[in-house]
Amino acid sequence: MNRALKVHQRLIEHYGEPIWRDPLPPIDELVSTILSQNTNDTNRDKAFIALRERFPTWEQVRDADSDEVIEAIRTAGLANQKGPHIQNALNKITELRGALELDFLREYSTEEAFNWLMQFKGVGPKTASIVLQFALGKPAFPVDTHIYRITGRLGLRPPKMNADKAHAHLAEQFPEDAYYAAHLNIIRLGREICKARKPQCEVCPLQKMCAYYAENFSSHVEDNS
Ligand code: SF4
Repeated sequence: MNRALKVHQRLIEHYGEPIWRDPLPPIDELVSTILSQNTNDTNRDKAFIALRERFPTWEQVRDADSDEVIEAIRTAGLANQKGPHIQNALNKITELRGALELDFLREYSTEEAFNWLMQFKGVGPKTASIVLQFALGKPAFPVDTHIYRITGRLGLRPPKMNADKAHAHLAEQFPEDAYYAAHLNIIRLGREICKARKPQCEVCPLQKMCAYYAENFSSHVEDNS
């Protein structure tokens, strides 16, 4: 059994099957994920709610004065970039599809849908993968800051591989049917135990399969094969 699968199974034993919020419609997920870049969930949600209160439809967001959109999403940070990225994506989707909807992507292969979403400025592998996995039910493995950090410590990816490249690499390590649970459980581990500044290795369920732990605290690490 490969190490990624062992990690997934150990986290299922430790945390159980993760339960996430109800899926958002794909356009909502796209906008929410653009807002989430370089900020936390609380600020993302505040900005998303403020945007929806100010402009109840996505058509209104698309057609709004850019300064008003920027003002509405200020709490998410980088509003001067995120506002234009959101409006640009909404405009392009309308232009290409004649309407503001992304449900047609359900009929595409995962790769085609991924590439279609990646055409928009401000939409990178993480944002595209989140929309695919969580709004369209397609197998994708989004790599956020927690996943990137922890897979590096565990030794599931080369240390210098950047986050964009880590998407394809990690998607190959985990089985597709584990993407959803592994993504959510690794993020939970990152918030509760394998924190950025000080990982709490002494209480971590992944100790025995972790390269960082083996290097710093123990000579014992489980077989890589
Ligand atoms: S053993 Fe330590 S470094 Fe490794 S995953 Fe757990 S908390 Fe992170």
